Amino acid sequence: MEVIKAPRGTRDVLGDESWKWAHVLDVCRKTADDFGYSEVLLPIFEHTELFSRGIGDTTDVVEKEMYTFIDRGDRSITLRPELTASMVRSYLEHEMRRMPQPVKLWSAGPMFRYERPQKGRYRQFWQIDFEILGVSNPMSDLETIDTSMEIYRRLGLTNLQVLTNSVGCPKCRPVYREALKSFISSSPGGLGGLCETCQGRFDRNPLRILDCKIPRCKELTESAPSMIDSLCDECREHFDSVTRGLSRIDADVRIDNRLVRGLDYYTKTAYEILAGELGSQNAVCGGGRYDNLSEAIGGPHVPGVGFASGIERIVLTLEGQGVYIGKKPEIDVYIVTASVDAAIEASALAHELRSVGLAVDLDYARRAMKAQMKHASSIGASFVCIIGGDEMASGAIGVKNMKSGEQMSVPRSETAARIASWGEEMVK
Ligand code: AMP
Repeated sequence: MEVIKAPRGTRDVLGDESWKWAHVLDVCRKTADDFGYSEVLLPIFEHTELFSRGIGDTTDVVEKEMYTFIDRGDRSITLRPELTASMVRSYLEHEMRRMPQPVKLWSAGPMFRYERPQKGRYRQFWQIDFEILGVSNPMSDLETIDTSMEIYRRLGLTNLQVLTNSVGCPKCRPVYREALKSFISSSPGGLGGLCETCQGRFDRNPLRILDCKIPRCKELTESAPSMIDSLCDECREHFDSVTRGLSRIDADVRIDNRLVRGLDYYTKTAYEILAGELGSQNAVCGGGRYDNLSEAIGGPHVPGVGFASGIERIVLTLEGQGVYIGKKPEIDVYIVTASVDAAIEASALAHELRSVGLAVDLDYARRAMKAQMKHASSIGASFVCIIGGDEMASGAIGVKNMKSGEQMSVPRSETAARIASWGEEMVK
């Protein structure tokens, strides 16, 4: 029988990498605290309707990428492909409208999309998600961009580019949609010049044609009219305030009037943050304003803005840029034992050392003492405590400082204090 492997598009984040994730999440949590976002832990699955109505029926995510199933109670359930719709659902369900506005929330966890896996694109991936709900002030759009850039700055990432656009609102977007459609229809190649997917998008979701990566579609829409020129007064004013604000933050910002994003709920501001190190999947962050999402899922009008950023891509960018990714946890003390009796003594000593805050490990494989010493050195333990026959007889512990090679015999009752004080000296 073949050994079962992880499903395509999923990956195990192993010990050599998981501490990098912990570092990223620590930085996110601290930044969230400093910016006044509170954390919410949301369900991994939701009613399918939340996404089909929230994200939009004609989006790639809803049409092709959702993991949807009927549960044993005959309900259609979907593993969340993103977090914004769940955030808004949670805001409505818990009547957060009654709280002082805006409500600033953040969350992190795995998302699920049936996509074609490649480097930086998986079927299960982690996102951090930050949202500001309840206000339509353009400065809150700016605050979300600033939040994401601050996370990247604290992580040490450089060389990022912010692309921003306005996708208008239900008042002005139809005007642009028609302008784009008539531009495509009257272009030399016409509708037939587009790839098959874009031909399908023409009536259902023509703005997404601007997002197509296929060269002939890109070429055809190169000189397409700009969304910015079709904006209504309100959207234009909003966009101007955001871009003026962006010019004051320390970031490389470019207006990209082809930026439309894959989810339908965006209104006004849309943005993406790109990292050159990522290759073709170069977006480390995507976000924008979604003033009509709450109504789409049955709630009252609740404006909102926010972003999501993929942890796999953050870690890939950190590695690509060779910056500090936190420190792999190390063992302070490894206890080496010579006999079963010594191993029992070692358990008690380990408990004592751990209770004063030291990271301790010991042998359970009954290796020879020499092999145990070798193992202690290979895992980078700072100290080794040796409990051999002599130590059992005398009640002392042999302590070896692995950095200096110095070794001494320490009374059992003083071991924890001595190691702690040596550890402090080593840090100095
Ligand atoms: P989106 O929710 O599509 O706006 O994506 C927001 C961010 O999530 C992107 O900029 C990526 O960093 C990340 N992301 C989206 N889809 C994937 C995926 N399939 N695999 C890994 N990361 C992803």
